[in-house]
Amino acid sequence: MAENMAFFASEEFDAKFRYDGKDLGAVCVGGSTVFKVWSPLAQRVELRLYRDQAAESYFREEMHAEDRGVWKLEFQENLHGVYYDYLVRREGKDTRTADPYAVGCSCNGGRSMVVDLSRTNPPGFEDDRAPAQGEERIIYELHIKDFSYDAESGVPEGYRGKYKAFTVTGTGGEYPTCLEYLKKLGITHVHLLPFFDYGSVDEAGDEKQFNWGYDPVNYNVPEGSYATDVSDGTVRIRECKEMIQALHNNGIRVIMDVVYNHTHENDSWFQRMVPDYYYRHMEDGSLSNGSACGNDIAAGRSMVDNYIVDSVMYWAREYHMDGFRFDLMGLLTVDLMNRIRRELDEAFGVGEKMIYGEPWSADESPMEEGTIAAEKKNAGYLNEGIGIFSDDTRDVIKGSVFYSEEPGFVNGGEDLEKAILHAVTGWKNGGACFVPKSCGQIINYVSAHDNFTLWDKLVLSLHQEKADFDRHYEDVYAANKLAAFIYFTCQGNLFLQAGEEFGRTKHGEDNSYCSTPELNMIRWHRTVEYGELVEYYKGLISLRKCLPGLCDKSPGAAARITCGRIHGEGVVSFLVDNQDVRPSLWEELFIVYNASSEEQRIKMPEQGGFWEVLADGEEADCRRRAEITENSILVAAHSGMLLGKRKE
Ligand code: CA
Repeated sequence: MAENMAFFASEEFDAKFRYDGKDLGAVCVGGSTVFKVWSPLAQRVELRLYRDQAAESYFREEMHAEDRGVWKLEFQENLHGVYYDYLVRREGKDTRTADPYAVGCSCNGGRSMVVDLSRTNPPGFEDDRAPAQGEERIIYELHIKDFSYDAESGVPEGYRGKYKAFTVTGTGGEYPTCLEYLKKLGITHVHLLPFFDYGSVDEAGDEKQFNWGYDPVNYNVPEGSYATDVSDGTVRIRECKEMIQALHNNGIRVIMDVVYNHTHENDSWFQRMVPDYYYRHMEDGSLSNGSACGNDIAAGRSMVDNYIVDSVMYWAREYHMDGFRFDLMGLLTVDLMNRIRRELDEAFGVGEKMIYGEPWSADESPMEEGTIAAEKKNAGYLNEGIGIFSDDTRDVIKGSVFYSEEPGFVNGGEDLEKAILHAVTGWKNGGACFVPKSCGQIINYVSAHDNFTLWDKLVLSLHQEKADFDRHYEDVYAANKLAAFIYFTCQGNLFLQAGEEFGRTKHGEDNSYCSTPELNMIRWHRTVEYGELVEYYKGLISLRKCLPGLCDKSPGAAARITCGRIHGEGVVSFLVDNQDVRPSLWEELFIVYNASSEEQRIKMPEQGGFWEVLADGEEADCRRRAEITENSILVAAHSGMLLGKRKE
């Protein structure tokens, strides 16, 4: 084992076996099908074909060895719809495996499927285009099943919890739900939790199963449990494309959550194809576990990196994905991430596809020699078009994700005034353990699928003794609004967990990855019960798009923020230069965060001018004349105030 490890990492291995061809897998076009696999240490590879998912093989043949560890078999026939797997012989022993490069698979993914991809496009998909990029990126994090599992979702029963739910328009009677709701909310991107084929849900099982899906089996195939039919492997492909097309047609871009840092099982197709090559090992030969999921993919090795790049490019090209969110990006390398950025930019235009990720890992991992982990402290090495989730912004606003009672700025935390002012520029002016190249590298957020929902965190921190997640606490309401107000007035990209805007609760469960669908699902009636909060978010979303001084992602954007002042405990203000090449109604913005329990009289930063209130603790995007007396303005307790100075 140790011998192999050194060999895999050597230049000798790369010189002999690195394969840069883009044709691995089963390529089925027109009147031919070509099978190619990369398995450099195999003595023999046999291809087996099946007419359907369960049948015995009707054809078996030994593949031809090509250069660089590639095995090939060619057919002058379009084998669309045929299932296949391989027998790989090493040391005289055959191992069965599916194809890591497969683009289609059987129910539960055990067999690969030959797919002529042109036959999987829904009508009009060739002409499908992402909506134009707007002034701001406001990303809404959503799980496919959560979206429509609720019987009140307005989606027909057969489509609930499925890709198909996204194609249903006119949802909701008295109040909009699903797609109609998303359109009204005004978010620009939907970020979907993993929907490549994952292993934790039995695709032949019932609808009561649930998992977030961070356990990849077939990276280049959509998950089957979100399809209406798994007996035919093309259905999941077509329906996944229909989902993306429907979101595009309704003005929303789509981001895919990708998990290239580990596989569902150690005994994966990778492992069966080239034992030990794709994983990191400790010195004693055991698998490393920086993912806390049992194994770490060995990013930094040539064919691992090639695989990840090819997979990302495949989803971007074939499924028209508009961006990728990398799970535990800290286990991947700076070189790999920059290469993905470069290749996406070359193929689709600079910045056209979004890239961001979690700039951390769950634990230590033995990185390949000479590589740099794509983690927060190395953000300076990452291309400025690669974003990172800002746990600094998240935690300073509402407190630690690990200690439920620990407060942040909005819920009683102390001595956070300086830090909150740093968060406004996306930490470009310092204050964190790294300095981003621009605020474009920062993803501002206060809730995501991991950890407590914002509502639950605020309830737990403000009402430790007797937390009741279904109660309309006034102070939780106000803290929720102020938290939103703050990150919506920070420079950088904006991100929210679906339902943050209506006080989504998981009743104090901070890790619902395999909880029931009922606990996880979006309860659409809550958009009515918490309608005032929804309206507030809607206002912040529409207002943000009109504030170029906050939307600016250039390296110089931080210079727009001036006159940062601390007025007292929990009270800060600053000025934003809001002038831009595109027309803006307000040349300057004056912003106050008042997290204290007292109403505050705040002195205006300058004399004169016609100032409008654009948002306060009650309303966002309100646009009414500000009541300035003696050059100062009143800001209510536990609330923010955003003023705009009209152009003369
Ligand atoms: Ca699956």
